[in-house]
Amino acid sequence: MIKDALEAVQKRMADAMAKAGRTDRVTLIAVTKNHPVSAVETVAQLGVRTVGENRVQEAKEKLLTYNGPELEWHLIGHLQANKVRQAVPLFSLIHSVDSSKLLDEINKVAAKCGKIQDVLLQVNVAREASKSGLTVEDFPEVRDYAKTLPNVRVRGLMCMAPFFENPEEARPIFRVAHALYEDMKSKFPEGQIEYLSMGMTHDFEVALGEGANMIRVGTAIFGNRVYD
Ligand SMILES: *Cc1c(COP(=O)(O)O)cnc(C)c1O
Repeated sequence: MIKDALEAVQKRMADAMAKAGRTDRVTLIAVTKNHPVSAVETVAQLGVRTVGENRVQEAKEKLLTYNGPELEWHLIGHLQANKVRQAVPLFSLIHSVDSSKLLDEINKVAAKCGKIQDVLLQVNVAREASKSGLTVEDFPEVRDYAKTLPNVRVRGLMCMAPFFENPEEARPIFRVAHALYEDMKSKFPEGQIEYLSMGMTHDFEVALGEGANMIRVGTAIFGNRVYD
């Protein structure tokens, strides 16, 4: 049952926070990709207020029929430039920005919508070819470029670790992401850099140990995704 699974995740979060000696706030993003809108409604009823989707079209369809308390919808999957026009009106936070070109496109669309779009920069610390995200080397240039765009507001950083059988092996990756995040804080106006999005079902305890304050959890809440 989703209710029990969600409670189990919240317990794991509380234990990991206690272990890390942390009392600050962490946002649990329920990752609803490949699950029906009824799953979104169930977690919303249980008090979740932030959901994560990977695909613009899928999120758009769910939003059309979603019936429940107001939610924040986050885009956590890769964003193609030609989907920006649809994405900007839907998402309060886009986690997956990884190029100046994409920043430009978001800035342009957001200006047209009269919106300042909150985004995170995705960093591919482990340089996995299968994942998007900026390399640590390319990160500073894109970060600094973002500052020049009036309709984009960078709020922090997103990182995905490779899958390791033993999630402890992700710790050095998360540590690098945390250092980049701390460094970002000094380069933007006070209070602007607030979110460090890292940790999934398999490794979120380790991420919380390394300072994550947004975790993105799907499988542990909803079970395995069904792909068609
Ligand atoms: C699917 C996905 C998640 C959730 O993964 P689980 O292992 O199911 O918790 C988190 N972040 C991103 C970017 C994803 O694509």
